[in-house]
Amino acid sequence: PGVTQALKDALAAAGEQVEVMPGIKTTGCHGFCSRGPLVIIKPKNIFYQQVKPADAEEIVQQTIVKGETVERLLYKLPQSGEAVETTEDIPFYAGQERVVLKNIGQIDPTKIDDAIRAGAYAGAAKALTTMEPQQVIDEVIKSGLRGRGGAGFPTGVKWNLAAKHQGGQKYVLCNADEGDPGAFMDRSVMEGDPHAVVEGMIIGGYAIGADTGYVYVRAEYPLAIKHLEKALADARALGLLGENILGSGFNFDIRINRGAGAFVCGEETALMRSVEGKVGEPVPRPPYPSDKGLFGKPSVLNNVETWANVSRILDRGADWFASLGTEKSKGTKVFALVGKVNNVGLVEVPMGIKLKDIVMTIGGGVPGSDRFKAVQTGGPSGGCLPWEDAELPVDFDSLIAAGSMMGSGGMIVMDDRDCMVDVAKYFLGFLEEESCGKCFPCRLGVPRLRETLNRFSKGEGTIEDIDDLYSMAEAIKAGSLCALGGTAPNAVLSTLRYFRDEYEAHILEHR
Ligand code: SF4
Repeated sequence: PGVTQALKDALAAAGEQVEVMPGIKTTGCHGFCSRGPLVIIKPKNIFYQQVKPADAEEIVQQTIVKGETVERLLYKLPQSGEAVETTEDIPFYAGQERVVLKNIGQIDPTKIDDAIRAGAYAGAAKALTTMEPQQVIDEVIKSGLRGRGGAGFPTGVKWNLAAKHQGGQKYVLCNADEGDPGAFMDRSVMEGDPHAVVEGMIIGGYAIGADTGYVYVRAEYPLAIKHLEKALADARALGLLGENILGSGFNFDIRINRGAGAFVCGEETALMRSVEGKVGEPVPRPPYPSDKGLFGKPSVLNNVETWANVSRILDRGADWFASLGTEKSKGTKVFALVGKVNNVGLVEVPMGIKLKDIVMTIGGGVPGSDRFKAVQTGGPSGGCLPWEDAELPVDFDSLIAAGSMMGSGGMIVMDDRDCMVDVAKYFLGFLEEESCGKCFPCRLGVPRLRETLNRFSKGEGTIEDIDDLYSMAEAIKAGSLCALGGTAPNAVLSTLRYFRDEYEAHILEHR
């Protein structure tokens, strides 16, 4: 608000010096967090970074009045120091493929008219007025879209399972309970383009025959909730939610549920129990939610990014979407790129891009080093990949084969100062705290893993402890009721796989 007001004041003060008075639009996050606040001047896309209110007058005089740039506010290429003028010239943006994020940074998220001008609800209109529900499901299956929340299950196939239950009450849900440390993908989408989520859920509801949707969003995201509430109210006012949407005969509305910050409520059965007003604990599957989900009715749960992708697929077609990415991982993926990396921010890249291209090119590399030590993907359930995997294609299956996972899109970069035993300990500590305690392999096993790692940190670990870590990890993976416990050992297993020498150094250095 400080920069926006200062620009308004500077424009008003410039008065008749300005030939065509520009409008000022406040948008969601452009993704280039380390350079914010940003001011982009259209139509040339002149990019000013780290703008302060005190810069407003110079921007107006120099750029709006005289048509020149303010050199000191431009982005400088890290290698040459050369100043570049537009977003297109900046490697952080040039390497990205924006599908989910395409409207973020372009539209005012609180104005539905602005979103509609940018193409919002075109996919929903097409689906509801020109397609049968089964055709919508077939289109999503054909696109190859896999769930972006973690497991990568084919979205259309999941919808088909719920759609097969003819008639009766059904639900669609949006998992917006983003809880991975360092992750803010879903938050940015909801804050910057809530319409993409609303539209995707309308399409999903129509496809499976649900009349009610729930967005389960963590209460720590007040701006996301505010923007979602505004988007829902505006969509209702325009007849995009409610009865007989766009004259299609389809009735549908969406409610918001606030999560109280339990990480385990990101697990689908726990999330549904929480929406029902019960304790948010996982329950055994089967029955799967597509048969018996929320309130015991057939339900489909997808995460924020998946729903946003659905909007784009129905708008531009399955063939277009399937042309992006790899054979088995179609489309793009949004990552929150954080840690020891120059360009901390939110990036969207085609599936299959090399890990190195994300971190070293789009991310601008590691401060003070020509390589990363490790990249942690997949949140607490994921794993750490070493520099030797720099050429690894980032897609669902390659990450799993390398001992990590896609997860919902957290990507934490580490350098030579990071101890990998400490890293594993941090994630185990997080999961220990967040375990619901319902089943004993997770409740008892995760603390035992962390205690064993503590021994290494104190120089009290042994080679036998490494064997114990492996056997405990196997037992926890095999016996846990839900994915929180089932994937908890990944941080230990992946660091042992690639950085075993560090565990051994902890033994040797104290002998
Ligand atoms: Fe709860 Fe952990 Fe068991 Fe999941 S694995 S049900 S989080 S105790």
